[in-house]
Amino acid sequence: MTNSPPVSLQFLGAAGGVTGSKYLFSYGDDQLLIDCGLFQGLKELRQRNWTAVPVDLARLRAVVLTHAHIDHSGYLPRIVAQGYQGPVFATPGTCDLLKVMLPDAAHLQEEEARYANRNEYSKHKPALPLYTVHDAERSLQLLRPVRNAEPVEVMPNVSLNFGRVGHILGAGSARLSFKIDGQQKTLLDSGDLGRYGRPILKDPEPAPNTDWLLIESTYGNRVHPKDSENGLREIIKEVAARRSCLIVPAFAVGRTQELIYVIRKMEDDGEIPTIPVHIDSPMAIEATEIYCRHTEEHDFEMAQLSSHEGCPISSRHMVIDRTPEQSKAVNDVKGPIIIISASGMATGGRVLHHLKQRLPDPETTVLLVGYQAEGTRGRSLQDGAKELKMLGEIVPVRASVKVLDGFSAHADQDEILRWLGTFKKPPRMTYVVHGEPAAASTLAEVIRDRLSWNVEVAKYQQKIPLQ
Ligand SMILES: [Zn+2]
Repeated sequence: MTNSPPVSLQFLGAAGGVTGSKYLFSYGDDQLLIDCGLFQGLKELRQRNWTAVPVDLARLRAVVLTHAHIDHSGYLPRIVAQGYQGPVFATPGTCDLLKVMLPDAAHLQEEEARYANRNEYSKHKPALPLYTVHDAERSLQLLRPVRNAEPVEVMPNVSLNFGRVGHILGAGSARLSFKIDGQQKTLLDSGDLGRYGRPILKDPEPAPNTDWLLIESTYGNRVHPKDSENGLREIIKEVAARRSCLIVPAFAVGRTQELIYVIRKMEDDGEIPTIPVHIDSPMAIEATEIYCRHTEEHDFEMAQLSSHEGCPISSRHMVIDRTPEQSKAVNDVKGPIIIISASGMATGGRVLHHLKQRLPDPETTVLLVGYQAEGTRGRSLQDGAKELKMLGEIVPVRASVKVLDGFSAHADQDEILRWLGTFKKPPRMTYVVHGEPAAASTLAEVIRDRLSWNVEVAKYQQKIPLQ
């Protein structure tokens, strides 16, 4: 039989970097996108969001989203604005998070365009947003929830399966099944691989066999420290004893929920005194509710606790700051106090006005719990900056700044290898994606040396025939 249609895969993002995840799968005349993410970070990358993706929307039959993070989902409203009206497949948890995250991303795009017009720094007049809140709302209409491990036909002759990978609520690997010359073949994208033994969510599931594998490599060349919870405990004890303030810039989805859960556990175990914890991020508040609602994703401990006393993602003295007025009022609150607020790298959001208010005070502690990308205020703080520019002012930094790396939502090298060890037989070919060049090439070497698999680092825009 030789009348099979040509089948191929093209890397349109998250190849040579960690953002802009987009893999174009072609099966004859039909095409499908696995992930539809925004490029973020350096300007050169962000500009890619403005150049047309080489996807013929008339041939695009489906979009599959592995999870809700904007670098995997945030380009969807752009293709919807350009005319895409087909289905978007994602897990129920992802669909719910997207209802919060996509309108928020659109709102930021609109704000940025307004700011550029006001300050006339854009060469385009008037500056336009990449997409609008209306485009985001239209994208949400296209969502088709698909439960973990339930196969669904996503376009003619191609079916999809999600597999649980931890990382954040709803996150899955995506496995496509299709026929070539009458033979069943599969392509598996790991999505963002989470970690083992972390609170709230179940561990990654064992991997199914596959012919072609895409494996993420964000931390492909690193191993996470194991003692982050001890570090957090000591910091909170010190803040309580000194009656001072702890500010934690944290991603609203995932990291904030894990922090609250861990703080509550320490309180229950009598390891730290109860002090007020302010959750000052509207998106974090909504995301926490979504986390609590999706019981199908809860691990054993989370399920046990939920059945006894309601959702355990809540500290004993938790204060929710919903409105801007409530957020501003926190400025007058004396310690001891913990403020958890977005954004995680202090690039924007409400955390800025807390930092502006409290960084000049040597009694304040700032705790960085996530990856701080180059060029962000979080990175400057981590590197020991003595002053920071924010909200139109130069703010002196007299607070003490601490860093805990172990709260990452991504598998480290050991955990990636643990997951790869669950394959019953090696994939025919493995492509390393979603990593900075050093992380991706190190992981590829390790896979080649230790597992003796066929492996290659994916290149941006590279197209591979699947046959
Ligand atoms: Zn992610």
